[in-house]
Amino acid sequence: MKAVVLRSFGGSERLLLENVPDPEPAFDEIVLKVATVSINRSFDLSVRKGTYSRGAVLPLVPGADPSGTVCAVGKSVTAFKVGDRVAVMSTIACGRCQECRRGAAASCGFSRTIGVHRWGGYAEYVAVPARNAALIPEALSFDHATVIARHGAAAYNFLIDRGKLQAGETALVFGASGALGGFAVQVAKLSGATVMAVAGTDTRAAFARQLGADATINYRTGDLVEQVMALTNGRGADLVFESSGDPELWPLALQCVAQAGRLVSCGAHGGGNVQLDLKKLYVGRIQIIGAAGVNVSDLDRALATGARGDIRATIDRVYPLECAAEAQDYVERERPLGKVLIAPGWNFKNVRQERPAS
Ligand SMILES: [Zn+2]
Repeated sequence: MKAVVLRSFGGSERLLLENVPDPEPAFDEIVLKVATVSINRSFDLSVRKGTYSRGAVLPLVPGADPSGTVCAVGKSVTAFKVGDRVAVMSTIACGRCQECRRGAAASCGFSRTIGVHRWGGYAEYVAVPARNAALIPEALSFDHATVIARHGAAAYNFLIDRGKLQAGETALVFGASGALGGFAVQVAKLSGATVMAVAGTDTRAAFARQLGADATINYRTGDLVEQVMALTNGRGADLVFESSGDPELWPLALQCVAQAGRLVSCGAHGGGNVQLDLKKLYVGRIQIIGAAGVNVSDLDRALATGARGDIRATIDRVYPLECAAEAQDYVERERPLGKVLIAPGWNFKNVRQERPAS
């Protein structure tokens, strides 16, 4: 099969289109004919450069979130058959640790990631553990299922499972125009919360409002904490969703938490070492909750919600497999508002533009 292989860390020229052996399913795996895989800044770009915090195993076929059609099943697999359309969660829990044994696979501390620690979806075919897959409802295209499986499922896990967001509460979402933040806005709104979205430009704030945010805050044009307090009668947000770990923004995020509220911390690409105001923490009876990984139930829930049209993916454009390097460069250079996808299954030469889903 054709696959894009990373044999050494560095620039996008390190992504090499090669012919490699077709994957065979192990007893508990399925093999997909890959339809779509998305480009993620952490997994794809950081992994390629060799800066990803949890390492990577070379040589590697990147691609954390492939979706496609099942074309082979391992001997012990009963949940899927050849021809099924499936999406995949990236994180493979160890299955043996205390968290896994109590059914909390998302909390596994020994997990590996598809497209990082084993071969992923920048390829015509990929083998994945069957327990990582979920059926795609008929109403969803592979393109949309890929993005919803990756970010919609995470938003459900981080806000609802971990953050315990309730109807009637207020949620403050940082990075609201990003892929994860965009789904966080939609899931928070759908759960009945009042949603305030934080973005760094007016364009990005307007985008968050299109996704359903009740109020938007551009942190570069005014005092962030003052704006949040003005919107909440001086109380702050019951739940703050922060995914960058930016040393400038994170202390402000904490100041925005309401008395006895929660801050969900689910990313550190902005730096990761931040100042913590302990007086605000204990006097405010605040919980800081770490979140990463998803359960397959989050995947099912996100896909079902997506199929009903209640949450949606925004797709900027789709590239053929041969243009993987160009696609990664585009993501790095342009920081597009929608997701950029690679479609190994399509036999075409030119970049296909896709209008954002509406
Ligand atoms: Zn585990």
